[in-house]
Formats: sequence, structure tokens, C-alpha cells
Amino acid sequence: MPGDLSNKKSQLLDKLRKQGITDEAVLEVISEIPREDFIAGYLRNQAYENAALPIESEQTISQPYIVAYMTQELRVNKTHKVLEIGTGSGYQAVVLAKLCKRLFTIERHRPLYKGAEEIFKKLRLFNITTLFGNGMKGWKEQQPFDRIMVTAAGEEIPDELLYQLKDGGIMIIPVGAQEETQHIVRITRKGDDFDVKTLLPVKFVPLLSGIVHSS
Ligand code: SAH
Repeated sequence: MPGDLSNKKSQLLDKLRKQGITDEAVLEVISEIPREDFIAGYLRNQAYENAALPIESEQTISQPYIVAYMTQELRVNKTHKVLEIGTGSGYQAVVLAKLCKRLFTIERHRPLYKGAEEIFKKLRLFNITTLFGNGMKGWKEQQPFDRIMVTAAGEEIPDELLYQLKDGGIMIIPVGAQEETQHIVRITRKGDDFDVKTLLPVKFVPLLSGIVHSS
């Protein structure tokens, strides 16, 4: 990596620590992953700014702080089977894949799904399985999951996803309409009950049903 990007990366890691990211495993994977590989070439010099950036299909790669925060709150370990909804650039998927046993990820925009598959191959991450589809329905054939992370904001928490969590499992999802303040919510399954905790205010692209074949 060129020196300037490498400097910016260590500055970003310092910032994340100051913002309250204390999970060393999360910081370690962020330091390992080349974020510049997940964005267009013209944005390369912004790869380690603590900012969301545009990707294809009018979507965004989340701000590093939000990626780190959501990952920390998910409490992932190496025994976990994890589902991510909203593959996008593939960056969050790679963060999760490095911390869990197997990662399943669903994207509704075909160009993004295709691009993410390429990068997972390039980075030799063989514990990721991708699906082009509507993630609001979850992944019936692969459920139940220890952890679920949704990276697009739902106006409501999709019921079908809740019931694909194992007992004791955790789901992190931004909730709220586009024009309202959204919040990251952490849900813990306790039998047929769900413990819901509201965390940070955020701004995410919407969780939408249906699929899109071209950009
Ligand atoms: N995790 C991504 C963030 C991408 S933005 C990253 O690290 O880059 C959110 C993504 O969710 C978008 O790509 C959007 O197309 C996708 N999305 C929205 N609704 C979806 C749905 N119902 N199923 C699957 N993907 C969805």
C-alpha cells in the first residue's frame, strides 16, 4: 500500500479508538482490509476517511465508524454462522467473514452482487456465500443464524428475519423511514420473545423489496 494511504489508515484506526471502538479483533480486521479495493478508483484517496462513500447502483459503502460499531455490537465469534442483508460493496461482509465461521450475504442489485463476488475471490475469502435476492425474506435454506446484520434501514423489523435467528442470537439493524431519524437497533432472541435495544442515530439507504437486474 502506498505510504499516504497507510498513514491515513493508522489515523483512521486512532479515530475509531477515540470514538469508543474497543474490540481489538474488530480493529484488527479493519486494519487488515484494503478499503480502497471496494470503491471506484477516483475515490481511492478518500478510502480511509471516516465517511460513507458512493458505490454503484446509487448505494453507499458505510462510514468505517458505523461498520466498526455495528460489528462490535453484533458480538461475533469464530463459531458463528452469520447472515448479512445488503452486500453492497462487500466491505462489511469481509469484516464479518474474518470474525465468524461462515458468512451468508444477500444483495438485491445484480451489479453489486457480481462485483462483491469478484472481490471475495480476489481476497481469497472462501467462507462467504452470496445470493442475489430480496434479503427481507432471509435465507430459509441456511437458517437458523447465530447473528444477523442488516446494512439498509427498514421502516420496520422484518418478521421473517427475526424467526431465522437462533435462540440467544443477535440481530443488528438500522430502523426508521428515510425522512425520519433512523436508529441502530440490537435485538436478542429469547425463545419466542425478542429483547430490543435502541442504540445510535444513523442514516442508511432504504431496505427495499424486489430485485434489480441492472444499475
Ligand atoms: N454492507 C454494504 C452497505 C451497502 S448499502 C457495504 O459494506 O458496502 C446497503 C445495501 O443494501 C445496498 O447495496 C442495497 O442495494 C442493499 N439492499 C437494500 N434492500 C435490500 C434487500 N431487501 N435485500 C438485499 N439487499 C438490499
